[in-house]
Amino acid sequence: MSEIVRDPEADRWNYHPEGPVGLNPLFAWPPRPGAILKWYSGAWLQITALTLCFAIAVIGYILFLPPLAEMQSFAPGWMITIWLLNMVPQTLVAGGLHWWLYMRQGQGMRKKFDRRDLTRKNGTFTFNNQVWDNIWWTLGSAMTVATLYQWVIFWAMANGWAPVITWAQAPVWFVVWMFIIPMWSGLHFYWTHRLEHHPKLYKHVHAVHHRNVNIGPWSGISNHWFENMLYFTTYFIHLIVASHPLHLMFHIYFQQVSPILSHSGFEKLMAKETEAARAGDFFHQLHHRYFECNYGTSEVPFDKWFGTYHDGSAKATERTRAYKKQMYT
Ligand SMILES: [Zn+2]
Ligand SMILES: [Zn+2]
Repeated sequence: MSEIVRDPEADRWNYHPEGPVGLNPLFAWPPRPGAILKWYSGAWLQITALTLCFAIAVIGYILFLPPLAEMQSFAPGWMITIWLLNMVPQTLVAGGLHWWLYMRQGQGMRKKFDRRDLTRKNGTFTFNNQVWDNIWWTLGSAMTVATLYQWVIFWAMANGWAPVITWAQAPVWFVVWMFIIPMWSGLHFYWTHRLEHHPKLYKHVHAVHHRNVNIGPWSGISNHWFENMLYFTTYFIHLIVASHPLHLMFHIYFQQVSPILSHSGFEKLMAKETEAARAGDFFHQLHHRYFECNYGTSEVPFDKWFGTYHDGSAKATERTRAYKKQMYT
């Protein structure tokens, strides 16, 4: 009788998905059309970070975004609206998820990666409390930097200094660009994030985000000022690539709201016994536990290409630990 060999990595988690952590099969060779279709339908045809961000972008654009003509000069009206378009969804989604998962404990430990609860009374955190620390770095630092950059981009678009398209002018590009934005974001994130792990930048800047070994919804963009200044430069692509304001809106929420879900600490959101939505991301959860791996996202497999991919196995943990040791000694 053969005994089933249990991967020791399994014991380090309350729950973790079976098998290697998934990567976008679009980049796999030989091509696997079935897997690609499954990957994209899984991302776009159910409640996920992508569809939630797209829905918020559409609602924000139709109901609240001032017309570009109004944004030709800097004036308090539209500028405050942009700030609120950042603050309100961030607070509702992160606050709502935090309340449901950690305060109300709506689904208990089901689909929760880490066994531990969030940290209270701990001197590493601003205000000695993980949640208040994360709220401050999100609503204070991240929202301020993001809003400043967006003001400049909308203003440039309104004045014809950035290429703006309409749906009627370029319907195909409109759709294609929408699908490329998450990939661009992943590419930008991989490289800026690797830079953040340079020992000097890490110590003074990125450590603020990594205080969160055990992450929660508010940890998503709980970043130091300098990290936010770098992280949100992703938006400046719209100064070069022809975009509609809706592209920028989607990019904004993808960059700001989707990390709330990927840091939620739970793989799925449950409504009674059914899985209602995809939330957390084991790929990034591993980054918070083991640091020197999975710098990017699963959307574009840079980590695989550059040898920093952690697939969730104990073997990968060993490799990551060895790499970390070599990096810091
Ligand atoms: Zn993170
Ligand atoms: Zn990091």
